[in-house]
Amino acid sequence: MKKCGKIGIVGLGLIGGSIAIALSGSYEIVGMSRNPDTVRYALENGIIDRAVSSYSEFIGLDAVIVCTPLSLVKKTVEDLYAALGDSVIITDVGSVKGMLSGLPGRIVGGHPMAGTEQSGIRAAKERLLENAYYILVDYKDNPRDLDFMKNLVLACGAVPIIMTADEHDKLVAKISHLEHMAAYSLINSAMTGDEEIVGSGFMDTTRIASSSPEFWATVAKLNKDNLLAEMDKYIETLNLLKEDIEKDADIIPTLTKAKQRRDALGYKRRYMTSYVVYVDVPDCVGSIVGVLAKLSDNGVSINNLTVMNSREGVGGALRIELKDERGYKKAKEIFG
Ligand code: NAP
Repeated sequence: MKKCGKIGIVGLGLIGGSIAIALSGSYEIVGMSRNPDTVRYALENGIIDRAVSSYSEFIGLDAVIVCTPLSLVKKTVEDLYAALGDSVIITDVGSVKGMLSGLPGRIVGGHPMAGTEQSGIRAAKERLLENAYYILVDYKDNPRDLDFMKNLVLACGAVPIIMTADEHDKLVAKISHLEHMAAYSLINSAMTGDEEIVGSGFMDTTRIASSSPEFWATVAKLNKDNLLAEMDKYIETLNLLKEDIEKDADIIPTLTKAKQRRDALGYKRRYMTSYVVYVDVPDCVGSIVGVLAKLSDNGVSINNLTVMNSREGVGGALRIELKDERGYKKAKEIFG
């Protein structure tokens, strides 16, 4: 099969490895990583076509994707430019985009909005990016390079969305970075570490506090101004609620407004990468199978299934991740 182009990938971890696997049928993939075992694994498993050990060996490719840890992305992009100049597109997958503004070279920023809590090449998956939004930043206003990147994103099974670095960084400060800081702070404010009993709400609200502290410290540093603005807004909102509670004021309208906005999120989903419904199930034989059978009878495919809060005699909840919006709407229709 004729290949669509030649791609270099620096940093064969979760994201770099997953992009390599997703593109391997349609592009020639040249890989580079720090650890020789990782490179060996990638070659042995057909994740990359060949490996290189210096940036200058990427000459002749169409694009190089920087998939190193976030703290190294800017330096890696600068070093690649020093070795390759304008001969290739240099793109990245870093979670903050302002850091590449103003750098020389044919840079197109990228941020696939997909991931797991795992890391490294062994966690890489062909379908990690499937249906995920993949933000592209056209720093150089270069339609040809942007088109090349759009096609590459589509070949990964992802959905390209174009925005400026500033729009991206403001958006992620609001929908992701603030929430991680809030989850870390919630744990530190509410827990001593000796608790034996915690509510499921606490577990839901703080799940992301198990994310990598090193990664999130880097994010906070690189997106500092936008994050601080969102933190100020959040502190102000929390203070207003606190004042109302102190004054015994009616807080139902405030909570109702939040509930309505949260309930509507499933349908909007512009920057979410999953369609999730929760279904309560009784603690009896066959209840989970019954839920799955209803979905299957209605032609609904699922991506993932988690059993939550399952305790003997009490029943539990199923967290079901649907494959697409149609499945999500159908599941909501069936289970309410
Ligand atoms: P990861 O699994 O830790 O992968 C990074 C890989 O980079 C490591 O496996 C390591 O491979 C390699 N590496 C480290 N230092 C290197 C160096 N100096 N030169 C070349 N390779 C080096 O992390 P990841 O989750 O894929 O994250 C990579 C990038 O994706 C980050 O910039 C992050 O912002 C972005 N991102 C992550 C997610 C997510 O949810 N994980 C989502 C969107 C974007 P070795 O095995 O060779 O040491």
